[in-house]
Amino acid sequence: MVTDTFFDNIIHMVEACLAENPCAVEVRYNEPMAAHSTFRAGGPADCWLKPSGENFPAFAAALLAAARAGHIPVFVLGGGANILAADAGIRGIVLDTGGWAGETGRRQEGILEFRAGTNIDAAAEIAADAGLSGLEFLAGMPGSIGGAVWMNARCYGQEIADVITETEVIDFSGSKPERLRLPANKSEFSYKHSPFQGRDVLILSASFHLTPGKEQQIRALMDSHRKDREAKGHYRYPSAGSVFKNNPAFGKPTGQIIDELGLCGLRTGGAQVAPWHGNIIVNTGGASASDIRTLIDEVTARVKTAAGFDLEPEILFIGN
Ligand SMILES: Cc1cc2nc3c(=O)[nH]c(=O)nc-3n(C[C@H](O)[C@H](O)[C@H](O)COP(=O)(O)OP(=O)(O)OC[C@H]3O[C@@H](n4cnc5c(N)ncnc54)[C@H](O)[C@@H]3O)c2cc1C
Repeated sequence: MVTDTFFDNIIHMVEACLAENPCAVEVRYNEPMAAHSTFRAGGPADCWLKPSGENFPAFAAALLAAARAGHIPVFVLGGGANILAADAGIRGIVLDTGGWAGETGRRQEGILEFRAGTNIDAAAEIAADAGLSGLEFLAGMPGSIGGAVWMNARCYGQEIADVITETEVIDFSGSKPERLRLPANKSEFSYKHSPFQGRDVLILSASFHLTPGKEQQIRALMDSHRKDREAKGHYRYPSAGSVFKNNPAFGKPTGQIIDELGLCGLRTGGAQVAPWHGNIIVNTGGASASDIRTLIDEVTARVKTAAGFDLEPEILFIGN
């Protein structure tokens, strides 16, 4: 139950942070998360805010520190491409990083650095414009650089850990927020895992080591990835991409297991296991988060019964 006091605390906190750290910021209360997730589902966040401009780091640091002190939960949102927000919504604050986007201006020989809110595909485009190869695998992937780093996003035989050299973060684990540059250590990344999971940090930017290449070849590879995603139906309906993780112990991709069990096309309300891909659940129109969650649970249970495998969701469930 959200009390007026809780709401009032959020409003006062946001206003106090803005007064001390002026920043261009869009603020909305009771903002539906359906508008901010690629599933196009999910109930209202008590407060959604999207700061932008050069004061983003100072404002975000002050806001997150004040929220921690006031026991107000904060969810850091990238592109919302890997989340399912509950119908009951999200208590506290959703900090949308989309206004902190683009290159940072610290371009060095073979190294590009992007702000966390940069759209993943746009980052691949910037690298191509610079005649730098290494981010082609990201072309066509929805979401933000911050989310991709946090998730160690992967596709087409490559992952973020292969190209990342450094991140800049605000670390909230100490008594005061601390802005740190952290060299990337590949051994700390693994399948769908980055060292930032379980750490109280806001990723501000990430740097990638790239190699000079022929722009035409770079673009040809990017186009082939985008076309492949299109052919695989990634953009046909709202979704969050793969719902479940793969697991080498299963002996085959999770999507194939679901497909072979005849679960493609299975429906709950407006949610459906994509008829063309077992590991994608789509919102065919008007699906609630509960429809999607129920279908995920149903597929999990059926795979366990029929094949004995414990599926692990790749998408993150957030909110109440
Ligand atoms: C059609 C489609 C296809 C997809 N294909 C792939 C694929 O091939 N491979 C793949 O790996 N994924 C894929 N995905 C999933 C998604 O695109 C990636 O996981 C992406 O990296 C998520 O980024 P995001 O910005 O949307 O993260 P969000 O969903 O917004 O957030 C994910 C997590 O990252 C955290 N986070 C985000 N930004 C920050 C930050 N700045 N600081 C700290 N934490 C942060 C969030 O708090 C959350 O815990 C696909 C999704 C869709 C819809």
